[in-house]
Amino acid sequence: MLSTNIFLKVIDRSIPAQIVFEDDLVLAFRDIHPQAPTHILIIPKKEIPTHDDLTEADQAILGRMHWAANQIAKQLNLTDGYRLVINCKDSGGQTVPHLHMHLLGGRNLGWPPG
Ligand code: C5P
Repeated sequence: MLSTNIFLKVIDRSIPAQIVFEDDLVLAFRDIHPQAPTHILIIPKKEIPTHDDLTEADQAILGRMHWAANQIAKQLNLTDGYRLVINCKDSGGQTVPHLHMHLLGGRNLGWPPG
């Protein structure tokens, strides 16, 4: 079941986070339980609960999330590659009800995911 939206508190700075990227549309910070040497979460500043809730008007946000991932990967020297993951709703493994993209790198990642 999806828990409360803790990421709104990261956006408004009421809880601390190690922020690595920010612009007008997105924020990116280090995951508190990293699953790889580099594990970053890229989130929209707009409140969008899940990938399923996206509308046509959100296409610029999605594009910016991918652009941020590209820039962060360069910034953190993920030259060997990395993985982008969006978990959607309960069956997708989503636990925080605010759209987020995982950027994972720094080790060889297995496939398929669990
Ligand atoms: O895709 P999913 O919803 O499972 O991912 C949520 C992620 O948010 C987890 O990797 C968790 O470690 C992370 N998290 C965080 N800081 C919080 C709460 C959760 O980095 N305060």
